[in-house]
Amino acid sequence: MTQGDLQLLFSHPERPHRSVLSVYLNVDQSHRSNSNRGFEKQLKNLTSSIRSTIHDAPELEGFRAAAHHIEDFVSAYEPRARGLVMFFDGTDGFFWHQEIGVPIHTQARWDRELFLQPLANALDQFERYGVVLVDRARLRLFAVFLGEIEEFTREGFGPNAQLRRVIKDVDWLVQTKQVHWLVLAGASEITSELRGMLPKRLALRVFGAVDVAIDAAARDVLSATRAIADEYERGTEAQTVKELVGAAGRNEKTVAGLGRTLKAINSDRVWELIYSEGLASPGFECVKCAALFSQEKTSCPYCGGSVDPVSDVVERAVEHAVRKGAKIEVVTGEAAASLYNVGGIGAFLKARTASIRA
Ligand SMILES: [Zn+2]
Repeated sequence: MTQGDLQLLFSHPERPHRSVLSVYLNVDQSHRSNSNRGFEKQLKNLTSSIRSTIHDAPELEGFRAAAHHIEDFVSAYEPRARGLVMFFDGTDGFFWHQEIGVPIHTQARWDRELFLQPLANALDQFERYGVVLVDRARLRLFAVFLGEIEEFTREGFGPNAQLRRVIKDVDWLVQTKQVHWLVLAGASEITSELRGMLPKRLALRVFGAVDVAIDAAARDVLSATRAIADEYERGTEAQTVKELVGAAGRNEKTVAGLGRTLKAINSDRVWELIYSEGLASPGFECVKCAALFSQEKTSCPYCGGSVDPVSDVVERAVEHAVRKGAKIEVVTGEAAASLYNVGGIGAFLKARTASIRA
C-alpha cells in the first residue's frame, strides 16, 4: 500500500445517498472461526443483516449490487494476511481492497461515505517505520507498515565498507520508502556507534535500538522491533494528551470536548484530531454540507440544510477530518483515560492564516 493509495481513499467524496459498502473482514487463519473459509459466512451474515434494514427499493437494488461485488471478490480470495479491507461505491463503481497484517474486527457499513475510522486507527497505531540492521560487514534495510515487513536489497556493501556508507543507504530508505521513524538493530556497540555518526536529519528519526542477529529472519526482525515501536507509540500518546489537556482553554491552538471539536472540523481548522479509543456518541449531520453536531439543530447554521441523526458522530468526525487532510491520533490505555476527563476528544488546530500573514 502506498501513500497514493491512501490519498485516493481519503479524498473519496461523500455521496448524497447511501451507495458505499465498506467491509473489514478478519481472515486470520489462526482463528478457528475463519478456517474452512468461515470468513465468507461471516461476510454473508453481515450483508444480510444490513439488507434487512433497507426498505427503499432503489436503495436495496444498489445495496445488492455492492454486496454481490464484494462477496464475489471474497469468494475468490486466498487468505494470507490477518485482515482484508474493502470499499465499493455504487455511484461510480469504485472498488478498493487491501490486505493488512494487523488484527481487525469484522464489521461492515452501508453509508454515504467510506467507513475509514478503523483503517485510520490502524494507520496511527501501526505507523510506518524503517529498520536498519547492521554489523561490520553487512547492512539490511526493512520497512514495516501495518504489521507487514518488507526487506530491500542494496548493492555494494562489503566487508570493507564504512558505517559512513550506511548513512547513504538510510537516506535512500527514508526518502524512497516514506519512512518517518527508524529503529537501529544489531549488536549494541555497533548501533550506538552508528547513532553517534548519523547526521541530525536521520538521528531525529531514531526512536530506539534493539539487539538482533544480522542474519535474523524478517519475521524475527519484525517482532523484535514491534515491541519498541509499540512502547514508543504509547509514549507519544501520553505526551500528546498531556499537551492537549494542558493547553485546552488556554489558547486558540487547541480545542477539547465533542461540541468544540466538531465545530473546528466543520470549519476545516483541525491539524490533528485526537480521541480516546472506543469513544462513540450519537449526533447529527447536515444532509447538504455534511457539518456535524453533537446536539440537534432545527437547521444547519452553516447552510440552512436539514439535519439528520447519525448513530456515531465520532466515526463521522474521523472520516471528515481524514478527508480534510488532518492527522489522526487514537489514544489508548492511560492516555485515553486522561483524555476522557476533557470529553475524550480534542484537536490541535492549524495555524491561523491571518497570524502567519501578520
Ligand atoms: Zn449545512
